[in-house]
Amino acid sequence: MYTRIYVLRFPKDIVEQPIICQLVKQFDVEFNILKATILPQHEGVMILELQGHKENIKKGLKFLKGLNVKAESVATSIHRDDDKCFQCGACTGICPTGALYIMRPEMNVVFEPEKCSGCGLCVTVCPVRAMEVFLDRNSSLPESVAEVH
Ligand code: SF4
Ligand code: SF4
Repeated sequence: MYTRIYVLRFPKDIVEQPIICQLVKQFDVEFNILKATILPQHEGVMILELQGHKENIKKGLKFLKGLNVKAESVATSIHRDDDKCFQCGACTGICPTGALYIMRPEMNVVFEPEKCSGCGLCVTVCPVRAMEVFLDRNSSLPESVAEVH
C-alpha cells in the first residue's frame, strides 16, 4: 500500500464541488483529511493523506491536475520515541521496507530511519504511539495550515 501526504489547492470556482468523493470512486484510493481551510482570497487548501496502489494515486493526481487543483507532495519523516518504546516488536511485522526489525540474539527492536519510506503503517500498530510522523519542515505549507503535525 502506497501512502503519501499532499497539500491540495483548489481554485475558488470549484471549492464547493465533491472532488474528493469523485477521486475515491474513480481511482479506488482511501483518504484522510488532516486539515482543510479556505484562505482569505477564497482559495481552498487541504492537507490530505492518500492510500492506495501507486498507479491509482498517480491517475488520481492527473485527474486533479485536469481540474486545475494543484497537488504538492509533503515529505514526511518518522521518529521513534525511545522512552516510550518497550520493544514489543509489533511494528517489525508490518514495516514493508525493513526499517524496523529485531536484532538477534539480543532481540532488540532496531529502527533504521534511512530505510524508512514514511508509509506510516508502524504509527497505527504501535500500542504506545512511540512511532511519530512529522511533516518535513522544508515543505512549503501555507502559513494558515503549517501548524499541522
Ligand atoms: S513508516 Fe514505519 S512501517 Fe513505514 S517504512 Fe517507515 S518504519 Fe517502516
Ligand atoms: S510497536 Fe511501538 S513499542 Fe513496540 S517495538 Fe515498535 S515502536 Fe516499540
